[in-house]
Amino acid sequence: MQRVKKGDTVEVISGDEKGKRGEVHEVLLKRHRVIVGGVNLIKKAQRRTGNVRTQVGIIEREGPVELSNVMPVCKSCSKATRVRFQGAGREKTRICARCGAALD
Ligand SMILES: [Zn+2]
Repeated sequence: MQRVKKGDTVEVISGDEKGKRGEVHEVLLKRHRVIVGGVNLIKKAQRRTGNVRTQVGIIEREGPVELSNVMPVCKSCSKATRVRFQGAGREKTRICARCGAALD
């Protein structure tokens, strides 16, 4: 079961952007990375394409962050927390290791 899911709020716990929080937009499971809103912005040169609605020029977008560099933020205690699992199989839920509140 995943520690971090799409839609979670996570906090960056190491690297240049330590302390930043954002919502998980995408989990790249195979690459062990996540895309987090507003974190690890990279500048990307976008060329003109056939689509007139494509924004052209230098655009900023989120780059992937290592899964091990983020921690889910608990809604109850609003702290970055380790995750415990409770239950089994389909009933399995994620629990905040600090306060015991369900994260799902
Ligand atoms: Zn908590």
